[in-house]
Amino acid sequence: MNSNKKFPTQEELQKELQEFKENLEKKYGVGIGIRLDNVSGRNVSPDTTEEDIPEPQDTFDLKFDLKPKDIKQYLDRYVIKQDDAKKALAIAVCDHYNHVRECHENPDAADTDYSKQNIVMLGPTGVGKTYLIRHIAKLIGVPFVKADATRFSETGYVGANVDDLIRELVTQADDNLELAQYGIIYLDEADKIATPPNIIGRDVSGRGVQIGLLKLMEETEVDLRSGNDVASQMRAAMEFQKRGKVDKEVINTRHILFIISGAFTGMEKIIKKRMHQSRIGFNADVASQNEDAAQYLSHVTPKDFIDFGFEPEFIGRLPVHVVCNELEVDDLFYILKHSEGSIIRQYENAFNAYGISVLFADCGLQKVAEQAIEQKTGARALMTVCERILRNYKFELPSTSTSEFVVTADVVEDPDKLLHQIIEDSVYNQNTISREQVRRYEYQFNIDHGLEIQFDEDATDAICERVVSQEKTVKQICDEILSSYQHGLNLIKKNTGQTSFTFPKQVVEDPDPILEQWIRDSYNTKR
Ligand code: ADP
Repeated sequence: MNSNKKFPTQEELQKELQEFKENLEKKYGVGIGIRLDNVSGRNVSPDTTEEDIPEPQDTFDLKFDLKPKDIKQYLDRYVIKQDDAKKALAIAVCDHYNHVRECHENPDAADTDYSKQNIVMLGPTGVGKTYLIRHIAKLIGVPFVKADATRFSETGYVGANVDDLIRELVTQADDNLELAQYGIIYLDEADKIATPPNIIGRDVSGRGVQIGLLKLMEETEVDLRSGNDVASQMRAAMEFQKRGKVDKEVINTRHILFIISGAFTGMEKIIKKRMHQSRIGFNADVASQNEDAAQYLSHVTPKDFIDFGFEPEFIGRLPVHVVCNELEVDDLFYILKHSEGSIIRQYENAFNAYGISVLFADCGLQKVAEQAIEQKTGARALMTVCERILRNYKFELPSTSTSEFVVTADVVEDPDKLLHQIIEDSVYNQNTISREQVRRYEYQFNIDHGLEIQFDEDATDAICERVVSQEKTVKQICDEILSSYQHGLNLIKKNTGQTSFTFPKQVVEDPDPILEQWIRDSYNTKR
Protein backbone atom coordinates (compact mmCIF):
# COMPACT_ATOMS: atom_id res chain seq x y z
CA MET A 1 0.00 0.00 0.00
CA ASN A 2 1.25 3.45 -0.89
CA SER A 3 1.54 5.33 2.38
CA ASN A 4 1.44 8.75 0.64
CA LYS A 5 -2.13 8.13 -0.46
CA LYS A 6 -4.77 10.27 1.24
CA PHE A 7 -7.19 7.95 3.00
CA PRO A 8 -10.88 8.46 2.35
CA THR A 9 -13.38 8.83 5.17
CA GLN A 10 -15.62 5.95 6.13
CA GLU A 11 -18.57 7.56 4.28
CA GLU A 12 -16.50 7.97 1.14
CA LEU A 13 -15.46 4.37 1.34
CA GLN A 14 -19.00 3.14 1.81
CA LYS A 15 -20.10 5.14 -1.22
CA GLU A 16 -17.27 3.68 -3.24
CA LEU A 17 -18.21 0.26 -2.03
CA GLN A 18 -21.83 0.71 -3.06
CA GLU A 19 -20.74 1.76 -6.56
CA PHE A 20 -18.44 -1.19 -6.74
CA LYS A 21 -21.30 -3.53 -5.81
CA GLU A 22 -23.64 -1.93 -8.37
CA ASN A 23 -21.03 -2.34 -11.09
CA LEU A 24 -20.65 -5.97 -10.21
CA GLU A 25 -24.41 -6.45 -10.33
CA LYS A 26 -24.53 -4.83 -13.76
CA LYS A 27 -21.83 -7.15 -14.96
CA TYR A 28 -22.94 -10.42 -13.34
CA GLY A 29 -26.61 -9.85 -12.53
CA VAL A 30 -28.40 -8.89 -9.35
CA GLY A 31 -27.76 -11.22 -6.46
CA ILE A 32 -24.01 -11.18 -6.55
CA GLY A 33 -22.74 -10.77 -3.06
CA ILE A 34 -19.51 -9.32 -1.84
CA ARG A 35 -18.41 -10.28 1.56
CA LEU A 36 -16.49 -7.77 3.48
CA ASP A 37 -15.82 -9.83 6.50
CA ASN A 38 -13.38 -12.21 4.93
CA VAL A 39 -12.10 -10.63 1.76
CA SER A 40 -8.81 -9.61 3.24
CA GLY A 41 -8.80 -12.09 6.01
CA ARG A 42 -9.39 -9.32 8.54
CA ASN A 43 -12.73 -8.96 10.25
CA VAL A 44 -13.87 -5.62 8.95
CA SER A 45 -17.36 -4.81 7.77
CA PRO A 46 -19.04 -1.55 6.83
CA ASP A 47 -20.41 -1.39 10.38
CA THR A 48 -17.04 -1.75 12.00
CA THR A 49 -16.21 1.14 14.27
CA GLU A 50 -12.80 2.28 15.37
CA GLU A 51 -13.31 0.63 18.74
CA ASP A 52 -14.05 -2.65 17.02
CA ILE A 53 -10.66 -2.84 15.38
CA PRO A 54 -8.57 -5.22 17.40
CA GLU A 55 -5.06 -4.18 18.15
CA PRO A 56 -2.85 -6.56 16.22
CA GLN A 57 -1.20 -9.02 18.55
CA ASP A 58 2.27 -10.10 17.72
CA THR A 59 3.36 -12.47 20.39
CA PHE A 60 2.96 -16.18 20.58
CA ASP A 61 4.84 -18.74 22.56
CA LEU A 62 5.38 -21.78 20.38
CA LYS A 63 5.77 -24.88 22.52
CA PHE A 64 6.28 -27.84 20.27
CA ASP A 65 7.46 -31.02 21.89
CA LEU A 66 5.63 -33.73 19.98
CA LYS A 67 7.32 -36.76 18.54
CA PRO A 68 6.28 -38.41 15.25
CA LYS A 69 4.66 -41.30 17.13
CA ASP A 70 2.55 -38.89 19.21
CA ILE A 71 1.18 -37.37 16.03
CA LYS A 72 0.52 -40.74 14.44
CA GLN A 73 -1.29 -41.98 17.55
CA TYR A 74 -3.46 -38.90 17.64
CA LEU A 75 -4.31 -39.26 13.95
CA ASP A 76 -5.16 -42.94 14.44
CA ARG A 77 -8.05 -41.90 16.67
CA TYR A 78 -9.74 -40.08 13.82
CA VAL A 79 -8.32 -41.24 10.53
CA ILE A 80 -8.73 -44.82 9.40
CA LYS A 81 -6.01 -46.45 7.27
CA GLN A 82 -3.51 -44.19 5.47
CA ASP A 83 -0.73 -45.47 7.74
CA ASP A 84 2.12 -44.56 5.40
CA ALA A 85 0.66 -41.10 4.92
CA LYS A 86 0.29 -40.62 8.68
CA LYS A 87 3.92 -41.60 9.26
CA ALA A 88 5.30 -39.41 6.49
CA LEU A 89 3.21 -36.47 7.66
CA ALA A 90 4.12 -36.97 11.31
CA ILE A 91 7.84 -36.93 10.45
CA ALA A 92 7.60 -33.91 8.15
CA VAL A 93 5.49 -31.94 10.60
CA CYS A 94 7.83 -32.69 13.51
CA ASP A 95 10.88 -31.68 11.44
CA HIS A 96 9.15 -28.48 10.43
CA TYR A 97 7.95 -27.40 13.85
CA ASN A 98 11.15 -28.46 15.62
CA HIS A 99 12.96 -26.18 13.23
CA VAL A 100 10.43 -23.41 13.77
CA ARG A 101 10.82 -23.78 17.53
CA GLU A 102 14.60 -23.53 17.26
CA CYS A 103 14.27 -20.37 15.17
CA HIS A 104 11.71 -19.06 17.64
CA GLU A 105 13.98 -19.68 20.61
CA ASN A 106 17.08 -18.43 18.85
CA PRO A 107 16.00 -15.91 16.21
CA ASP A 108 19.57 -14.94 15.35
CA ALA A 109 20.62 -18.43 14.31
CA ALA A 110 21.09 -18.60 10.57
CA ASP A 111 18.96 -21.23 8.88
CA THR A 112 19.94 -20.71 5.29
CA ASP A 113 20.64 -24.39 4.78
CA TYR A 114 17.27 -25.54 5.94
CA SER A 115 14.83 -26.62 3.29
CA LYS A 116 11.23 -26.43 4.38
CA GLN A 117 9.21 -29.65 4.53
CA ASN A 118 6.37 -28.52 2.30
CA ILE A 119 4.20 -31.43 1.28
CA VAL A 120 2.39 -32.76 -1.79
CA MET A 121 -0.46 -35.16 -1.02
CA LEU A 122 -1.74 -37.45 -3.72
CA GLY A 123 -4.89 -39.51 -3.56
CA PRO A 124 -8.50 -39.75 -4.63
CA THR A 125 -11.23 -37.61 -3.19
CA GLY A 126 -12.68 -38.26 0.26
CA VAL A 127 -9.93 -40.48 1.64
CA GLY A 128 -8.78 -38.21 4.46
CA LYS A 129 -6.18 -35.86 2.97
CA THR A 130 -7.72 -32.67 4.34
CA TYR A 131 -8.92 -34.45 7.44
CA LEU A 132 -5.36 -35.49 8.33
CA ILE A 133 -4.01 -31.97 7.99
CA ARG A 134 -6.91 -30.38 9.84
CA HIS A 135 -6.25 -32.67 12.78
CA ILE A 136 -2.51 -32.01 12.70
CA ALA A 137 -3.14 -28.25 12.79
CA LYS A 138 -5.57 -28.72 15.66
CA LEU A 139 -3.14 -30.87 17.62
CA ILE A 140 -0.30 -28.40 17.24
CA GLY A 141 -2.56 -25.42 17.81
CA VAL A 142 -1.69 -23.52 14.65
CA PRO A 143 -4.13 -21.87 12.25
CA PHE A 144 -5.19 -23.76 9.17
CA VAL A 145 -6.46 -22.43 5.86
CA LYS A 146 -7.84 -24.54 3.07
CA ALA A 147 -8.50 -23.27 -0.43
CA ASP A 148 -8.99 -24.72 -3.86
CA ALA A 149 -6.14 -23.96 -6.22
CA THR A 150 -8.73 -23.49 -8.98
CA ARG A 151 -10.00 -20.44 -7.15
CA PHE A 152 -6.89 -18.62 -8.23
CA SER A 153 -6.94 -19.55 -11.86
CA GLU A 154 -10.60 -18.80 -12.45
CA THR A 155 -10.87 -15.71 -14.53
CA GLY A 156 -13.11 -13.01 -13.21
CA TYR A 157 -12.74 -13.91 -9.56
CA VAL A 158 -12.69 -10.71 -7.62
CA GLY A 159 -9.50 -10.30 -5.69
CA ALA A 160 -8.27 -13.86 -6.19
CA ASN A 161 -4.72 -13.61 -5.21
CA VAL A 162 -2.52 -16.18 -3.57
CA ASP A 163 -1.59 -13.59 -0.95
CA ASP A 164 -5.19 -13.77 0.29
CA LEU A 165 -4.30 -17.16 1.76
CA ILE A 166 -1.89 -15.49 4.13
CA ARG A 167 -4.50 -12.95 5.15
CA GLU A 168 -6.94 -15.74 5.83
CA LEU A 169 -4.38 -17.34 8.09
CA VAL A 170 -4.31 -14.16 10.15
CA THR A 171 -8.07 -14.34 10.57
CA GLN A 172 -7.83 -17.97 11.61
CA ALA A 173 -5.17 -16.95 14.13
CA ASP A 174 -7.57 -14.39 15.63
CA ASP A 175 -5.32 -11.59 14.43
CA ASN A 176 -2.29 -12.98 16.21
CA LEU A 177 0.31 -12.18 13.59
CA GLU A 178 3.06 -14.33 14.99
CA LEU A 179 0.84 -17.36 15.33
CA ALA A 180 -0.30 -16.82 11.74
CA GLN A 181 3.33 -17.08 10.64
CA TYR A 182 3.42 -20.68 11.92
CA GLY A 183 0.18 -21.72 10.25
CA ILE A 184 -0.60 -24.34 7.66
CA ILE A 185 -1.93 -23.55 4.19
CA TYR A 186 -3.63 -26.40 2.42
CA LEU A 187 -4.27 -26.06 -1.27
CA ASP A 188 -6.62 -28.62 -2.72
CA GLU A 189 -7.09 -29.48 -6.39
CA ALA A 190 -3.49 -28.48 -7.00
CA ASP A 191 -3.35 -30.84 -9.97
CA LYS A 192 -5.56 -28.32 -11.78
CA ILE A 193 -2.82 -25.70 -11.81
CA ALA A 194 -0.49 -27.99 -13.71
CA THR A 195 0.01 -27.00 -17.32
CA PRO A 196 0.74 -30.13 -19.32
CA PRO A 197 3.12 -29.25 -22.14
CA ASN A 198 1.04 -30.99 -24.79
CA ILE A 199 -2.11 -28.99 -24.13
CA ILE A 200 -1.61 -25.86 -26.13
CA GLY A 201 -3.20 -22.68 -24.99
CA ARG A 202 -4.44 -24.14 -21.76
CA ASP A 203 -4.26 -21.82 -18.97
CA VAL A 204 -1.22 -19.69 -18.66
CA SER A 205 -2.76 -18.69 -15.37
CA GLY A 206 -1.97 -22.13 -13.88
CA ARG A 207 1.68 -21.36 -14.37
CA GLY A 208 1.11 -17.90 -12.94
CA VAL A 209 -0.47 -19.40 -9.83
CA GLN A 210 2.47 -21.75 -9.41
CA ILE A 211 4.87 -18.83 -9.59
CA GLY A 212 2.80 -16.84 -7.10
CA LEU A 213 2.77 -19.78 -4.72
CA LEU A 214 6.47 -20.40 -5.21
CA LYS A 215 7.17 -16.91 -3.92
CA LEU A 216 5.07 -17.61 -0.82
CA MET A 217 6.61 -21.01 -0.25
CA GLU A 218 10.13 -19.63 -0.40
CA GLU A 219 10.07 -16.59 1.78
CA THR A 220 8.34 -13.34 1.27
CA GLU A 221 6.58 -10.65 3.22
CA VAL A 222 2.90 -10.27 2.54
CA ASP A 223 1.27 -6.95 3.28
CA LEU A 224 -1.89 -7.60 5.21
CA ARG A 225 -3.56 -4.74 3.39
CA SER A 226 -3.94 -5.62 -0.21
CA GLY A 227 -4.25 -2.66 -2.57
CA ASN A 228 -7.41 -3.90 -4.26
CA ASP A 229 -9.16 -4.99 -1.12
CA VAL A 230 -11.83 -2.57 0.04
CA ALA A 231 -12.08 -4.01 3.52
CA SER A 232 -8.43 -3.62 4.31
CA GLN A 233 -8.48 -0.12 2.84
CA MET A 234 -11.30 0.69 5.23
CA ARG A 235 -9.40 -0.73 8.11
CA ALA A 236 -6.37 1.36 7.19
CA ALA A 237 -8.56 4.45 6.81
CA MET A 238 -10.00 4.02 10.28
CA GLU A 239 -6.62 3.36 11.75
CA PHE A 240 -5.35 6.50 10.06
CA GLN A 241 -8.20 8.53 11.56
CA LYS A 242 -7.61 6.99 14.96
CA ARG A 243 -3.85 7.13 15.18
CA GLY A 244 -2.83 9.63 12.49
CA LYS A 245 -0.62 6.97 10.93
CA VAL A 246 -0.88 3.53 9.45
CA ASP A 247 1.58 0.87 10.54
CA LYS A 248 2.69 -1.54 7.92
CA GLU A 249 1.44 -4.97 8.83
CA VAL A 250 3.32 -7.76 7.16
CA ILE A 251 3.53 -11.48 7.53
CA ASN A 252 6.68 -13.35 6.74
CA THR A 253 5.96 -16.67 5.05
CA ARG A 254 9.23 -18.38 5.99
CA HIS A 255 7.69 -20.68 8.61
CA ILE A 256 4.31 -21.27 7.04
CA LEU A 257 3.87 -24.91 6.09
CA PHE A 258 2.41 -25.43 2.61
CA ILE A 259 0.59 -28.54 1.61
CA ILE A 260 -0.77 -29.02 -1.86
CA SER A 261 -3.02 -31.89 -2.68
CA GLY A 262 -5.01 -33.44 -5.45
CA ALA A 263 -6.09 -36.63 -7.16
CA PHE A 264 -3.38 -36.19 -9.82
CA THR A 265 -5.36 -38.32 -12.23
CA GLY A 266 -3.07 -39.66 -14.92
CA MET A 267 0.05 -39.39 -12.79
CA GLU A 268 0.21 -43.17 -12.44
CA LYS A 269 0.54 -43.45 -16.22
CA ILE A 270 3.51 -41.08 -16.20
CA ILE A 271 5.18 -43.05 -13.41
CA LYS A 272 4.40 -46.35 -15.06
CA LYS A 273 5.91 -45.18 -18.33
CA ARG A 274 9.05 -43.96 -16.61
CA MET A 275 9.41 -47.17 -14.62
CA HIS A 276 8.98 -49.33 -17.69
CA GLN A 277 11.32 -47.23 -19.78
CA SER A 278 14.10 -47.17 -17.29
CA ARG A 279 15.56 -50.20 -15.63
CA ILE A 280 16.75 -47.95 -12.82
CA GLY A 281 14.18 -47.93 -10.09
CA PHE A 282 12.15 -50.52 -11.94
CA ASN A 283 10.23 -52.62 -9.50
CA ALA A 284 9.15 -55.93 -10.96
CA ASP A 285 6.41 -56.45 -8.37
CA VAL A 286 4.74 -53.21 -9.18
CA ALA A 287 5.12 -53.52 -12.89
CA SER A 288 4.04 -57.11 -13.25
CA GLN A 289 0.60 -57.44 -11.78
CA ASN A 290 -0.21 -54.55 -9.59
CA GLU A 291 -1.95 -51.98 -11.75
CA ASP A 292 -3.29 -50.22 -8.73
CA ALA A 293 -2.75 -46.47 -9.10
CA ALA A 294 -1.64 -46.06 -5.48
CA GLN A 295 1.13 -48.59 -6.00
CA TYR A 296 2.56 -46.40 -8.72
CA LEU A 297 1.92 -43.13 -6.93
CA SER A 298 4.11 -44.23 -4.04
CA HIS A 299 7.04 -44.17 -6.54
CA VAL A 300 6.44 -40.60 -7.67
CA THR A 301 9.51 -38.45 -8.31
CA PRO A 302 9.93 -34.71 -8.94
CA LYS A 303 10.43 -35.50 -12.63
CA ASP A 304 6.98 -37.08 -12.78
CA PHE A 305 5.48 -33.90 -11.36
CA ILE A 306 7.32 -31.90 -14.01
CA ASP A 307 6.02 -34.20 -16.74
CA PHE A 308 2.57 -33.74 -15.24
CA GLY A 309 2.90 -30.01 -15.86
CA PHE A 310 4.48 -28.43 -12.81
CA GLU A 311 7.31 -25.94 -12.91
CA PRO A 312 10.59 -27.51 -11.69
CA GLU A 313 11.13 -24.68 -9.18
CA PHE A 314 7.64 -25.12 -7.83
CA ILE A 315 7.88 -28.84 -7.29
CA GLY A 316 11.40 -28.42 -5.94
CA ARG A 317 9.87 -26.55 -3.02
CA LEU A 318 7.64 -29.49 -2.14
CA PRO A 319 10.08 -32.20 -1.04
CA VAL A 320 7.68 -34.43 0.91
CA HIS A 321 5.42 -36.68 -1.14
CA VAL A 322 2.54 -38.39 0.65
CA VAL A 323 0.14 -40.87 -0.92
CA CYS A 324 -3.32 -41.63 0.45
CA ASN A 325 -5.06 -44.79 -0.71
CA GLU A 326 -8.57 -45.47 -1.87
CA LEU A 327 -10.92 -46.60 0.91
CA GLU A 328 -12.80 -49.89 0.70
CA VAL A 329 -16.22 -50.93 2.07
CA ASP A 330 -14.72 -52.30 5.29
CA ASP A 331 -12.83 -49.05 5.82
CA LEU A 332 -16.02 -47.03 5.44
CA PHE A 333 -17.75 -49.32 7.94
CA TYR A 334 -14.83 -48.90 10.33
CA ILE A 335 -14.92 -45.11 9.94
CA LEU A 336 -18.60 -45.06 10.87
CA LYS A 337 -18.22 -47.42 13.79
CA HIS A 338 -14.87 -46.54 15.30
CA SER A 339 -13.51 -43.18 14.17
CA GLU A 340 -13.77 -40.57 16.92
CA GLY A 341 -14.98 -38.14 14.32
CA SER A 342 -17.66 -40.50 12.94
CA ILE A 343 -20.69 -38.75 11.52
CA ILE A 344 -22.79 -41.19 13.55
CA ARG A 345 -22.16 -38.96 16.59
CA GLN A 346 -23.69 -36.04 14.73
CA TYR A 347 -26.87 -38.01 14.11
CA GLU A 348 -26.98 -39.23 17.69
CA ASN A 349 -26.73 -35.64 18.89
CA ALA A 350 -29.24 -34.35 16.37
CA PHE A 351 -31.88 -36.88 17.51
CA ASN A 352 -30.91 -36.49 21.15
CA ALA A 353 -31.90 -32.86 20.92
CA TYR A 354 -35.50 -34.12 20.58
CA GLY A 355 -35.10 -36.74 23.30
CA ILE A 356 -34.79 -39.51 20.71
CA SER A 357 -32.04 -42.06 20.94
CA VAL A 358 -30.87 -43.58 17.67
CA LEU A 359 -28.94 -46.86 17.64
CA PHE A 360 -26.93 -47.74 14.55
CA ALA A 361 -26.85 -51.51 14.14
CA ASP A 362 -23.75 -53.05 12.54
CA CYS A 363 -25.88 -54.45 9.72
CA GLY A 364 -27.18 -50.90 9.07
CA LEU A 365 -23.68 -49.42 9.06
CA GLN A 366 -22.53 -52.14 6.70
CA LYS A 367 -25.32 -51.29 4.27
CA VAL A 368 -24.52 -47.57 4.51
CA ALA A 369 -20.88 -48.36 3.70
CA GLU A 370 -21.94 -50.52 0.73
CA GLN A 371 -24.15 -47.78 -0.68
CA ALA A 372 -21.47 -45.14 -0.07
CA ILE A 373 -18.75 -47.04 -1.91
CA GLU A 374 -20.88 -46.93 -5.07
CA GLN A 375 -20.60 -43.17 -5.19
CA LYS A 376 -16.83 -43.25 -5.57
CA THR A 377 -16.30 -40.19 -3.40
CA GLY A 378 -14.64 -42.02 -0.52
CA ALA A 379 -15.86 -41.31 2.99
CA ARG A 380 -17.57 -38.14 1.79
CA ALA A 381 -20.39 -40.32 0.50
CA LEU A 382 -21.18 -41.57 4.01
CA MET A 383 -22.76 -38.27 4.87
CA THR A 384 -24.71 -38.19 1.60
CA VAL A 385 -26.08 -41.67 2.16
CA CYS A 386 -27.00 -41.04 5.81
CA GLU A 387 -28.63 -37.75 4.93
CA ARG A 388 -30.77 -39.39 2.28
CA ILE A 389 -31.84 -42.19 4.61
CA LEU A 390 -32.48 -40.15 7.71
CA ARG A 391 -33.84 -36.89 6.39
CA ASN A 392 -37.48 -37.92 6.77
CA TYR A 393 -36.72 -39.47 10.15
CA LYS A 394 -35.40 -36.12 11.34
CA PHE A 395 -38.51 -34.45 10.04
CA GLU A 396 -41.16 -36.91 11.25
CA LEU A 397 -39.92 -38.53 14.45
CA PRO A 398 -39.59 -35.44 16.67
CA SER A 399 -43.38 -34.96 16.36
CA THR A 400 -44.20 -38.55 17.38
CA SER A 401 -43.96 -40.44 20.67
CA THR A 402 -41.03 -42.53 19.38
CA SER A 403 -38.16 -42.14 21.81
CA GLU A 404 -35.79 -44.74 20.39
CA PHE A 405 -35.19 -46.50 17.10
CA VAL A 406 -32.57 -48.57 15.33
CA VAL A 407 -30.98 -47.97 11.95
CA THR A 408 -31.00 -51.53 10.64
CA ALA A 409 -30.09 -52.84 7.19
CA ASP A 410 -33.82 -52.69 6.39
CA VAL A 411 -33.95 -49.00 7.29
CA VAL A 412 -31.05 -48.30 4.94
CA GLU A 413 -32.66 -50.29 2.14
CA ASP A 414 -36.15 -48.88 2.41
CA PRO A 415 -36.12 -45.91 4.76
CA ASP A 416 -39.64 -44.64 4.10
CA LYS A 417 -41.36 -47.99 4.56
CA LEU A 418 -39.50 -48.61 7.79
CA LEU A 419 -40.19 -45.12 9.07
CA HIS A 420 -43.92 -45.85 8.99
CA GLN A 421 -43.40 -49.18 10.66
CA ILE A 422 -41.34 -47.61 13.44
CA ILE A 423 -43.98 -44.96 14.07
CA GLU A 424 -47.05 -47.19 13.75
CA ASP A 425 -45.92 -50.55 15.07
CA SER A 426 -44.53 -50.11 18.58
CA VAL A 427 -44.15 -53.89 19.08
CA TYR A 428 -41.96 -54.09 15.98
CA ASN A 429 -39.94 -51.10 17.14
CA GLN A 430 -39.43 -52.46 20.67
CA ASN A 431 -38.38 -55.80 19.24
CA THR A 432 -35.80 -54.20 16.96
CA ILE A 433 -34.42 -52.14 19.83
CA SER A 434 -34.12 -55.23 22.07
CA ARG A 435 -32.37 -57.18 19.31
CA GLU A 436 -29.87 -54.39 18.87
CA GLN A 437 -29.30 -54.27 22.63
CA VAL A 438 -28.57 -58.00 22.61
CA ARG A 439 -25.94 -57.38 19.88
CA ARG A 440 -24.40 -54.64 22.02
CA TYR A 441 -24.39 -56.86 25.10
CA GLU A 442 -22.47 -59.50 23.12
CA TYR A 443 -20.00 -56.86 21.94
CA GLN A 444 -19.43 -55.56 25.47
CA PHE A 445 -19.04 -59.08 26.85
CA ASN A 446 -16.22 -59.63 24.39
CA ILE A 447 -14.52 -56.40 25.44
CA ASP A 448 -14.93 -57.14 29.15
CA HIS A 449 -14.04 -60.83 29.18
CA GLY A 450 -12.18 -61.54 25.93
CA LEU A 451 -14.83 -64.11 24.93
CA GLU A 452 -16.87 -63.89 21.74
CA ILE A 453 -20.48 -64.79 22.46
CA GLN A 454 -23.49 -64.80 20.21
CA PHE A 455 -27.12 -65.60 20.94
CA ASP A 456 -28.59 -67.35 17.88
CA GLU A 457 -31.85 -66.16 16.27
CA ASP A 458 -34.16 -68.19 18.53
CA ALA A 459 -32.22 -67.26 21.66
CA THR A 460 -32.40 -63.58 20.68
CA ASP A 461 -36.15 -63.86 20.13
CA ALA A 462 -36.56 -65.48 23.53
CA ILE A 463 -34.69 -62.61 25.21
CA CYS A 464 -36.82 -60.05 23.34
CA GLU A 465 -40.02 -61.78 24.52
CA ARG A 466 -38.78 -61.68 28.08
CA VAL A 467 -38.09 -57.95 27.85
CA VAL A 468 -41.80 -57.46 27.27
CA SER A 469 -43.20 -60.14 29.60
CA GLN A 470 -40.89 -59.45 32.54
CA GLU A 471 -40.52 -55.71 31.95
CA LYS A 472 -36.77 -55.99 32.37
CA THR A 473 -33.93 -54.57 30.32
CA VAL A 474 -31.88 -56.72 27.96
CA LYS A 475 -28.90 -56.20 30.20
CA GLN A 476 -30.72 -57.39 33.31
CA ILE A 477 -31.97 -60.50 31.51
CA CYS A 478 -28.59 -61.35 29.96
CA ASP A 479 -26.75 -60.76 33.25
CA GLU A 480 -29.13 -63.19 34.96
CA ILE A 481 -28.78 -65.81 32.23
CA LEU A 482 -25.02 -65.59 32.09
CA SER A 483 -24.28 -65.22 35.81
CA SER A 484 -22.15 -68.37 35.89
CA TYR A 485 -21.03 -68.24 32.26
CA GLN A 486 -18.01 -66.01 32.58
CA HIS A 487 -16.37 -68.52 34.91
CA GLY A 488 -17.66 -71.56 33.00
CA LEU A 489 -16.64 -70.32 29.56
CA ASN A 490 -13.19 -69.46 30.86
CA LEU A 491 -12.82 -73.03 32.11
CA ILE A 492 -13.75 -74.31 28.66
CA LYS A 493 -11.30 -71.86 27.11
CA LYS A 494 -8.58 -73.18 29.40
CA ASN A 495 -9.36 -76.80 28.50
CA THR A 496 -9.88 -76.43 24.76
CA GLY A 497 -8.70 -72.98 23.67
CA GLN A 498 -12.21 -72.17 22.46
CA THR A 499 -12.98 -68.42 22.63
CA SER A 500 -16.11 -68.14 20.51
CA PHE A 501 -19.50 -69.43 21.66
CA THR A 502 -22.94 -69.48 20.05
CA PHE A 503 -25.87 -69.77 22.47
CA PRO A 504 -29.03 -71.65 21.44
CA LYS A 505 -32.46 -70.89 22.92
CA GLN A 506 -31.83 -73.46 25.64
CA VAL A 507 -29.21 -71.13 27.18
CA VAL A 508 -31.89 -68.50 27.65
CA GLU A 509 -34.49 -70.94 28.99
CA ASP A 510 -32.33 -73.00 31.31
CA PRO A 511 -28.71 -71.82 31.28
CA ASP A 512 -26.98 -74.03 33.86
CA PRO A 513 -27.46 -77.61 32.53
CA ILE A 514 -26.13 -76.75 29.08
CA LEU A 515 -23.10 -74.96 30.52
CA GLU A 516 -22.38 -77.95 32.76
CA GLN A 517 -22.60 -80.24 29.75
CA TRP A 518 -20.16 -78.01 27.78
CA ILE A 519 -17.73 -78.00 30.68
CA ARG A 520 -17.86 -81.80 30.99
CA ASP A 521 -17.25 -82.11 27.22
CA SER A 522 -14.30 -79.75 27.48
CA TYR A 523 -12.62 -81.99 30.06
CA ASN A 524 -13.14 -84.94 27.72
CA THR A 525 -11.55 -83.03 24.84
CA LYS A 526 -8.67 -82.08 27.11
CA ARG A 527 -7.97 -85.69 27.90
P1 ADP B 1 -10.02 -35.45 0.83
O1 ADP B 1 -9.14 -36.66 0.79
O2 ADP B 1 -10.74 -35.24 -0.46
O3 ADP B 1 -9.31 -34.24 1.34
P2 ADP B 1 -11.43 -35.29 3.32
O4 ADP B 1 -10.24 -35.47 4.15
O5 ADP B 1 -11.97 -33.90 3.25
O6 ADP B 1 -11.19 -35.81 1.85
O7 ADP B 1 -12.58 -36.29 3.79
C1 ADP B 1 -13.95 -35.93 3.85
C2 ADP B 1 -14.56 -36.45 5.14
O8 ADP B 1 -14.60 -37.87 5.10
C3 ADP B 1 -13.74 -36.11 6.37
O9 ADP B 1 -14.19 -34.92 6.94
C4 ADP B 1 -13.97 -37.29 7.27
O10 ADP B 1 -15.17 -37.13 8.00
C5 ADP B 1 -14.18 -38.44 6.34
N1 ADP B 1 -12.96 -39.22 6.07
C6 ADP B 1 -12.28 -39.28 4.91
N2 ADP B 1 -11.27 -40.15 4.98
C7 ADP B 1 -11.29 -40.66 6.22
C8 ADP B 1 -10.48 -41.63 6.91
N3 ADP B 1 -9.44 -42.24 6.30
N4 ADP B 1 -10.79 -41.91 8.19
C9 ADP B 1 -11.84 -41.31 8.80
N5 ADP B 1 -12.65 -40.42 8.20
C10 ADP B 1 -12.38 -40.08 6.92
